[in-house]
Amino acid sequence: MTILKLQNIHYISDNTNIINGINLDINEGECISIVGPSGSGKSTLLKLCSDLISPSQGDLFFKNKNYKEYNPTELRKKISYCVQIPYLFGETVYDNLSYPFETRKEDVNKIKILEYLYKFNLDESYINKDVNSLSGGEKQRIALIRNLIYKPEILLLDEVTSALDKDNLKIVEGIIKDMNKSGTTVIWITHNIEQSKSIFNRKITIEDGIIENEEELN
Ligand code: ADP
Repeated sequence: MTILKLQNIHYISDNTNIINGINLDINEGECISIVGPSGSGKSTLLKLCSDLISPSQGDLFFKNKNYKEYNPTELRKKISYCVQIPYLFGETVYDNLSYPFETRKEDVNKIKILEYLYKFNLDESYINKDVNSLSGGEKQRIALIRNLIYKPEILLLDEVTSALDKDNLKIVEGIIKDMNKSGTTVIWITHNIEQSKSIFNRKITIEDGIIENEEELN
């Protein structure tokens, strides 16, 4: 089943054409790698897919229904977007990891938060840490937990492992691979070619705001 459809998507900002007519069908359960030179429009494409910005022309469909027909808050719970330099809010890690529960008006499940911290190689002392005291790699993992603690239907990742060391990179890749196996569709901007081989089923190259090449990886 097509979970995400992009139909003739254009995006113009400040009289500059950034996305120049992208058509793309993504099936449920796919794990897609997005590659391409810096400035080619990869991040803009993910922002469009996550409904953070709207196309200047063209339409996006989630499960065959136009984005325009969805409540934006509901759509963002189903389609989760994680950026390279994450914005952590409030004062502590807890402020960030309790947020997904609060926004869904559910009781904060502290056990689940601790489980996720351990999964991401962070011990329970992190829960009360000041967000400003964290390293770039720790911030990336906390932001990922915030995005993943409720399993999204589509996970959009923008260079989210750039600050991780080798061991933590492996851990995070493993978690995302498992999520993909359990049904989450993943679209991941990455520079790591090795990564492309082990996780992804399709590689899409973006250049000058268009799909320059598509490759099946299986
Ligand atoms: P990539 O992720 O491939 O590096 P981006 O999507 O971040 O590329 O950016 C594509 C191009 O669009 C860049 O030249 C960038 O400077 C420009 N751009 C991105 N967002 C905006 C915006 N809101 N206004 C004007 N230009 C933008």
